[in-house]
Amino acid sequence: MPDHYLNAQAIRENAHSLAATLGIDTEEAEELLQAHALVTVDESVPSNVFLCEQVSKLLARTLESASHHVDSGIPAVEIIIGQIPPRSAAPTIWVSSDGDTACISRQRASLPGVQEIHPALLVVVACYVAAAALRVAIGDSLPFPDHDPLILDLKSLGLTLDVTSRQVDLGRTYLAGAGAIGNGYLWALRWFDVRGQLDVVDFDIVKKGNLNRQLWFRESDVGLSKAERLVGRAQASFSHVKLLPRVDRLQDLPEKKDDPRWLRRLIVGVDSRMARRSLQSEIPGEVFDASTTDIREIVLHFNCQPSRQACLGCIYPPDDLETGRTLDIALALGVTIKDVQEGVISPMAAQMILARYPDRGLTAAALEGEAYDSLFKALCAKAALRTESGRQVFAPFAFVSVLAGALLAIETVRRLGGGDANFNLWKISPWSPFIPRLRRQVPAIPTCPICGETVFRNTAQQLWG
Ligand SMILES: [Zn+2]
Repeated sequence: MPDHYLNAQAIRENAHSLAATLGIDTEEAEELLQAHALVTVDESVPSNVFLCEQVSKLLARTLESASHHVDSGIPAVEIIIGQIPPRSAAPTIWVSSDGDTACISRQRASLPGVQEIHPALLVVVACYVAAAALRVAIGDSLPFPDHDPLILDLKSLGLTLDVTSRQVDLGRTYLAGAGAIGNGYLWALRWFDVRGQLDVVDFDIVKKGNLNRQLWFRESDVGLSKAERLVGRAQASFSHVKLLPRVDRLQDLPEKKDDPRWLRRLIVGVDSRMARRSLQSEIPGEVFDASTTDIREIVLHFNCQPSRQACLGCIYPPDDLETGRTLDIALALGVTIKDVQEGVISPMAAQMILARYPDRGLTAAALEGEAYDSLFKALCAKAALRTESGRQVFAPFAFVSVLAGALLAIETVRRLGGGDANFNLWKISPWSPFIPRLRRQVPAIPTCPICGETVFRNTAQQLWG
């Protein structure tokens, strides 16, 4: 049986994302996504079998179904992993690898296939395969460059045998955000020999609409704490890391009062620019960050204090889109801009929203603590789709978030395992091959609202200098 992870709200989330990208109605986008993907695999190569599982899991959260069973529906696309013939008349995506590179093409693959490729690299390949398959399944209408063949330079990600065979000690590290990127991060991190303790920090609960992209979660997790469920699902995959759920905002954790050097290392997977700036204000010693901009782009960023290099405030300054979106949300929900900037709905703001929407079945208890973005999407999707700033509230597809999380996990392990901190910013498209030469060292911006402040620089120097 194919896996069914999608419910009506999760299907709607995918449809909103596609509608925002194509400029079409949500209903039309939902129809396009009602497609089946067939995955055909040369099972004589273990890496192929693992890749098939990963691709199927990602596409099962994106399209109507994805399966290697030939009788599970008429496929809109057939993905062929390895050197075997197709089993349907559907358009094909061929996948092959020689270990150093992976090739995703519409023609028969040419690379020989190897027995073992590191699983984290296969997760990365799976994300690109899912993107290519979605493109074909919905009829080639995406407004992104079409690379055929798409060649991934896996070797450039730096996972040498030396790195992958090493024990990597996380010490005590905090993961801020148990959403889509936090899920993707642990999805890939489990394939490395990591040790230590990871505090998984998130105050939010799993919502039905999250299931399209938050890979560890199932229907039975809906309504429960994201931090607790992510730890509950993922802990068995980490023999030597203690995962500790923290149902809170990172900024409100009690240990902050006891030890000024409490936040030595922070993994950032939260969902807004504003939240990122706020996390940098906590002055973590080291930051490992990944973000997504709808389905178009992934940003990886790293900083280590004290530093003259860019911080989260430099990389994600307040911009016009963010300001526009804040205003849109405030106007639509009948609250103030300051309320929206708080990120989550306060008891007072909940009353104002209830006054604006008395007949939508909302309750104060359900509204309090909810994120503004989520409520805005739920109540005002049509209005949001009409503006560029509004379109950014729609969450990406599973393969976009998992690619962000997997690249962040790979880079965490590479750096903690002794690799060079040779870049602090890398922008990647899930639709084009990642380009190693676009990795950059970006200096701090003098006007940065965080590290541009003398008090921040002095404190960073005292704590971590
Ligand atoms: Zn800065």
